[in-house]
Amino acid sequence: MNNKYFQIVVLAKQVPDTHNVGKDAMKEDGTINRAALPAIFNPDDLKALEMALACKDALKDIMPVKVTIITMGPPRAAEIVRESMFRGADNGIVISDKRFAGSDTLATSYALSAAVKKLGHVDLVFTGRQAIDGDTAQVGPQVAEKLELPQITYAEELVSMTENEIIIKRRLDRGVETVKTTFPVLVTVHGNANDCRPRHAKRVIMYKNASTYSERQQSTDNSQQTLSTEALWEKRPFLKIEEWNADDINPDFSRLGMSGSPTKVKSIENVVLTSKENKTINNSESEINELMKELITAHII
Ligand SMILES: Cc1cc2nc3c(=O)[nH]c(=O)nc-3n(C[C@H](O)[C@H](O)[C@H](O)COP(=O)(O)OP(=O)(O)OC[C@H]3O[C@@H](n4cnc5c(N)ncnc54)[C@H](O)[C@@H]3O)c2cc1C
Repeated sequence: MNNKYFQIVVLAKQVPDTHNVGKDAMKEDGTINRAALPAIFNPDDLKALEMALACKDALKDIMPVKVTIITMGPPRAAEIVRESMFRGADNGIVISDKRFAGSDTLATSYALSAAVKKLGHVDLVFTGRQAIDGDTAQVGPQVAEKLELPQITYAEELVSMTENEIIIKRRLDRGVETVKTTFPVLVTVHGNANDCRPRHAKRVIMYKNASTYSERQQSTDNSQQTLSTEALWEKRPFLKIEEWNADDINPDFSRLGMSGSPTKVKSIENVVLTSKENKTINNSESEINELMKELITAHII
């Protein structure tokens, strides 16, 4: 553990809101039209943030704790860093660079693990179990492997937390397992975990102007620009959201973006179900198996 403070990192992703998919959601080539979908905080990652903040609460009378959000995505992903600060996070970093484009889970986890390494000493890393757009649930465990950290997956409940150990209940297919470990460790948080606490009014007032350098450059709000970015950050360092590009995380460039992504998408099919395609089956194993075969053959599942 760091002598000065206990460092918690939450890896959080901004995702398209797949619950509000309208007719413009898909492009003709079958890829997602991200511009037509509102961007939201990945739901599991909000739960990961809550568990991180609960850990901070548990330690607050024992030692200082810092909760840092790291997100990799376009510059507008700074929105979820601010959202996290409104709810209790201390600061955040946006990892953004065109050289990350086309990253599969391997390249994504490589870039995120390089960013965590750059932070220096880290005691606890939280991720969501799964992102609602990519949906692979691979990134958390891959980051743990790359950082050579033990991992607790599918965390559902924080049972207790001290400066030396954490006890967590994890969701299994048929029950719950309670595990205990020391630090450092990476934890992936299940969707059944506690909802994130709401924004805190005082924190919203304090952090509403927190921004990255590129947001400050693009801002048309003159009230924000009365001070130069550097002068503002010198006066109020808590308003600085760090922005790192590929050079900043000191990577092996061959492991980033397309070149670091062995997964190749061969084709994408847009499956649109119509009401005519309803089928009623009996609750028998043979009919269910038959339906499963049909769905697989038709590439629906
Ligand atoms: C060949 C290929 C090309 C792709 N090209 C693109 C592309 O050009 N642009 C694009 O947007 N996507 C692209 N993707 C999708 C991209 O790989 C995934 O979105 C990304 O790797 C994360 O995987 P996931 O969404 O399945 O996350 P999961 O593994 O389901 O996520 C688990 C958890 O990991 C953490 N996490 C995941 N991603 C991030 C992140 N970016 N920042 C912080 N935390 C994170 C979160 O805590 C999340 O809950 C591509 C995928 C493939 C296979």
